[in-house]
Amino acid sequence: MNLDFSPEDIAFRDEVRAFVAENYPEQLRGKGDREDLSKEDFLSWHKILAKKGWVAPSWPKEWGGCGWTSTQKYLFGEEMARADAIPILPFGVAMVAPVIYTFGTQEQKERYLPKIYNGEEWWCQGYSEPGAGSDLASLKTKAERITGDDGKEYYIVNGQKTWTTLAQHADWGFFLVRTDPTAKIQEGISFLLIDMKSPGITVRPIITIDGGHEVNEVWLENVKVPVENRVFEENKGWTCAKFLLAHERSGIAGVARSKRGVEKVRELASAEAGDDGHNLLSDPDFKRKVAELEIDLTALEYTELRVLASESAGKGPGPESSLLKIKGTEIQQRLTELALEAAGHYGAPYFRGFPEDGDNMHPIGPDAAHRTAPNYFNTRKTSIYGGSNEIQRNIIAKMVLGL
Ligand SMILES: Cc1cc2nc3c(=O)[nH]c(=O)nc-3n(C[C@H](O)[C@H](O)[C@H](O)COP(=O)(O)OP(=O)(O)OC[C@H]3O[C@@H](n4cnc5c(N)ncnc54)[C@H](O)[C@@H]3O)c2cc1C
Repeated sequence: MNLDFSPEDIAFRDEVRAFVAENYPEQLRGKGDREDLSKEDFLSWHKILAKKGWVAPSWPKEWGGCGWTSTQKYLFGEEMARADAIPILPFGVAMVAPVIYTFGTQEQKERYLPKIYNGEEWWCQGYSEPGAGSDLASLKTKAERITGDDGKEYYIVNGQKTWTTLAQHADWGFFLVRTDPTAKIQEGISFLLIDMKSPGITVRPIITIDGGHEVNEVWLENVKVPVENRVFEENKGWTCAKFLLAHERSGIAGVARSKRGVEKVRELASAEAGDDGHNLLSDPDFKRKVAELEIDLTALEYTELRVLASESAGKGPGPESSLLKIKGTEIQQRLTELALEAAGHYGAPYFRGFPEDGDNMHPIGPDAAHRTAPNYFNTRKTSIYGGSNEIQRNIIAKMVLGL
């Protein structure tokens, strides 16, 4: 896309580019699109950006935000994708933090925001339950209020959450719990911050189709949570929940990374010529599929820029974040399909961590081909999480089209 950048914007872009080139950890190079990153991998880059003051550009300035324009945010995202930098995990910085600085008390802001910013506390999201995914408001995990022996007020939480991403590393979780079972379903929910080391919490792994341990079940049995860990009013947690979901969705679009993904597909498709001297990139049908995807990606990029511009004008993400989520995740999935097609039989071995873990295996073909299958399988998730794409279509029908 040809955008006219001012000399200041170009200087900013060059500054970011130089910073990443000098400071991105050597051991993380080439790991940007991998799903098997360790806690240390995620935190090492997070902490470098935090030290520079660039880990949470959208936060209010007083808590560490950068006060960047929408163009600067766009350029920053572009540079991170261009360098294949591993993403900053959203659960702390992009999900619970905006809830805390928007709805939390001063004490809550001071207690939680600096540790999220500096990567000292890892967060997970306790929304979904076995019977409450798309229909989230029907959640059953209950929190009963009691007065403890010490005279303080607590909630006693019992229930089960599921699909809790990377909860095995989490220090804290933000949970939706039912505090009034008699009220209308959206009106009896509260938003609690729970210390994951609390007695009564059990985290059990769910292994996904690509062999990874990314998601978990979280069981809560008589977990004692101080009332001051509730954000916003009791039974008004649905307000925080919806606000957070809009932030979660607009972050999922991943336009800059998909642009880099197209380049990688091109590299892979042009890597090897067949007996006739042609490679896949000269195949008209494959070229057409790549071109269609790029056209959709450019359209999405314009939409994302409009959303960024309206955010810079002080508006929060609205129903357009549903549109970004649908198109962004469809494009991510199509990209992994094209990569798998380009890899052909070289993509067949799909052990996680392959080829590094496969001491006795000798993969053939381009390196980039070896992870196309796990990436393909893993990326099926994107149209489900953050609210499934069918649900996003319902939101657009109601909120945008007025149907
Ligand atoms: C990899 C991954 C990570 C996740 N991480 C987290 C996390 O960290 N924390 C967390 O709380 N949750 C997480 N989730 C859960 C995610 O938000 C839910 O999976 C999602 O909301 C869908 O809910 P469900 O799985 O219960 O499916 P269901 O709600 O049972 O839906 C099943 C199917 O029916 C469709 N459907 C349901 N209702 C409607 C309707 N009204 N109209 C049209 N179609 C409908 C859905 O689109 C879907 O295709 C994660 C999920 C995945 C896959």
